[in-house]
Amino acid sequence: MQEMSNVIEIEDMITVGTLAERLMIPVSSLIGELMKNGVMATVNERIDFDTAQIIVEELKLDVSLARQATTEAAGPVRHKIVASDKAVSRPPVVAVMGHVDHGKTSLLDAIRSSNVAAREAGGITQHISAYQVKHNNRLITFLDTPGHEAFAAIREHGALLTDIVIIVVAADDGVKPQTIEAIRFARKAGVKIIVAANKMDKEGADVNRLKQELSEQDLLVEEWGGDTFVAEVSAKTGKGIPELLDMILLVTDVEELKADIDVPARGLIIEAHVEQGRGPMAYALVEAGTLKPGTFVVAGSSYAKIRNLENTEGVPVKIATPSMPVSITGFKTLPEFGDEFVAVANERAARHMAEAAAVEKQAAGGHSSVGSSELIRMINRNNEVQELNVIIKADVQGSLTSVIDSLKALDTEEVAVRVVSSGVGAIGENDLHLAHSSNAIVLGFNVSLATSSRQQAARDKVRVQLYKVIYELIDDVKNELSTLLKPEIVETELGRLVIRGIFNTTKTAVICGGEVTKGKLTVPALARVMRDKESLGEVEITGLKRGPAEAKEVFEGEMCGLSFSTKHRIDLQEGDHIELFTRQAIERSL
Ligand code: GDP
Repeated sequence: MQEMSNVIEIEDMITVGTLAERLMIPVSSLIGELMKNGVMATVNERIDFDTAQIIVEELKLDVSLARQATTEAAGPVRHKIVASDKAVSRPPVVAVMGHVDHGKTSLLDAIRSSNVAAREAGGITQHISAYQVKHNNRLITFLDTPGHEAFAAIREHGALLTDIVIIVVAADDGVKPQTIEAIRFARKAGVKIIVAANKMDKEGADVNRLKQELSEQDLLVEEWGGDTFVAEVSAKTGKGIPELLDMILLVTDVEELKADIDVPARGLIIEAHVEQGRGPMAYALVEAGTLKPGTFVVAGSSYAKIRNLENTEGVPVKIATPSMPVSITGFKTLPEFGDEFVAVANERAARHMAEAAAVEKQAAGGHSSVGSSELIRMINRNNEVQELNVIIKADVQGSLTSVIDSLKALDTEEVAVRVVSSGVGAIGENDLHLAHSSNAIVLGFNVSLATSSRQQAARDKVRVQLYKVIYELIDDVKNELSTLLKPEIVETELGRLVIRGIFNTTKTAVICGGEVTKGKLTVPALARVMRDKESLGEVEITGLKRGPAEAKEVFEGEMCGLSFSTKHRIDLQEGDHIELFTRQAIERSL
């Protein structure tokens, strides 16, 4: 009788620490195995189910993983950018996947070495995460995925940048677990699949058996009535590679791939490391827009004023357009693989967004979660805007959407509501942590606050406001926004005096006398010293005298003595005027 292995249920995303605990292995061995596969994760970082599954397989433990049914929404959902009608054609982005040792690396290298523009002798020494080749005078972008391609960052973001997945299968070995995994991944991401039947030069290569095995995975090849192309290649001899590239271009034509180029540039960080003498270096794949040296970009909690752009052959370029992988120098800190980047207007916006991302990342326990819509919203925002940070929780999605929409409608050129986070359900510990670290107010609509959370909120001085009526919520936020409006400054003219004599002048005080020519003078008051139409400075009236006696007020036509204090020396002359006024700050409301 066959022995059943243990089945362990885990969530879609699990921290390294928790996984090690469930597997009953030391956390260090798990981290080590992840590193071997190119994933640098600390104990508190989360990995996805597929990553966990691969690692468990590699560890050869007598357990298998199963997905735990979960009601929790899966990570940040990112949507493909919709191209406008001004969009232009762009090269396809192709990822290569497959079972270990089936020849992914060899195939990528073979394509690169035979098609990249002339390069000095010595061939490829450096391994890079993406490159572009020219075939039939058209560009194709290849994306190499570190370790195993199913890793979280590529899954979350990269899949949406990938147009075509080439599944490499060694024709002498056939379909294997990671082949199936790759097929599943490509299907889920909704990308086109091309199969490269590799190692066709080898004795045991059997493409018909391979096609049969593919059909068992519901991947029906073209000649059997399906829509899957199979290219017979040898990464070793180079045979079949031009045909594979032809197929890629054929699929590209059918897909009509387009991107806008005159929008703020955005894309994905596909590699980042510190290079000696050059500082942090990031490889980025442009998704839309155009990158140039001098552009400010934000990626997660790092930002850069782009110093240099180079293509993946190390050649400096002036611009990087959609589907182009480029290296960027100028980052202050190292961005992370899988971070989305966006171009912003200036350094202030860049810093602001990077800081906001850092706060969110911290709140999310090291897991970055700034959504792209949030980034885009922030780019388009004038930097002088005063923002009110809020966290919104509501009972159902419908009411959440109406609350958010109503609050967004309150935005003006001066003040705006920034939704730091929002969600459906009760206000929990995480919301309060995030509110505390991002200085946000928590707004609950038709949701409750548990006693323990209430205590936590009081302890952390987090404001939580609960509502059952949407108009009350909006009114309160409106009032709150009003307090952020700069008060209106109103000056009221009081009276005017012409100088007839100067009695004493120091650097900071003047005693003089004159005649009130208009209105009345009072003390205290502010005043401007005027010579003809020019202001010599603003002063503060400190005393008034009618004859020898102190006075509170003197009126038009009267003579008086006057003392004022000044911040800078004013060389007063007879005939100068002093104009008295009061200044009030008046609060405004929306
Ligand atoms: P990866 O793990 O999928 O990246 O596989 P590699 O590219 O490292 O290749 C694994 C092994 O297969 C290496 O020893 C390669 O030299 C060999 N290999 C790859 N492609 C071919 C091929 O087309 N023909 C032959 N004969 N060997 C190949």
